[in-house]
Amino acid sequence: MFLDVKELAVRKLRIRKKYAPGSIDFHSAEIKQIKSLEVTATAELLESQIRIEGSLETKIELVCARCLEPVVEDVSRTFDLFYAPLPKEAKPKEDRLKDDDTEIGFYQGEGLFLADVIKEQVLLALPLKVICQSDCRGLCPNCGANLNHEECRCETHATDPRMAPLARLKQDWFKKQ
Ligand SMILES: [Zn+2]
Ligand SMILES: [Zn+2]
Repeated sequence: MFLDVKELAVRKLRIRKKYAPGSIDFHSAEIKQIKSLEVTATAELLESQIRIEGSLETKIELVCARCLEPVVEDVSRTFDLFYAPLPKEAKPKEDRLKDDDTEIGFYQGEGLFLADVIKEQVLLALPLKVICQSDCRGLCPNCGANLNHEECRCETHATDPRMAPLARLKQDWFKKQ
């Protein structure tokens, strides 16, 4: 859906839209939308700024930072955003200003795509890091075993250094047999 300034100049737009999983590209293999993303919003032109106010809701599957198992996050966010026409001399890299209270973005040319706005809002709503449970034990750095589900064998061998010579003796003994 393209929000065209010329149309917004004529009338305020009421938006109810559903984005099916996969229709918004989050540019990350670790961010997976697993439920339809629902947006309710209004878009209007104030002076020359596009104002988009509303809310969104969806479920996103992320990856546990410790054990790499999937973690589902409920995402719901309200927003009230202003987009000003991009000044001609501005470089694209500097197209976003932020301070504590107001957030102003910029649009180029005739308007902006709602999906781009929504994608950014979803990314802002997501935590930087998730873990599946507060006591997630993660993966063994040696063998990659998920320590939540299985005992790792290299752990029991390596933890007690006093046992190492004995283990070596045993190994030699087995080899000789
Ligand atoms: Zn985990
Ligand atoms: Zn291990």
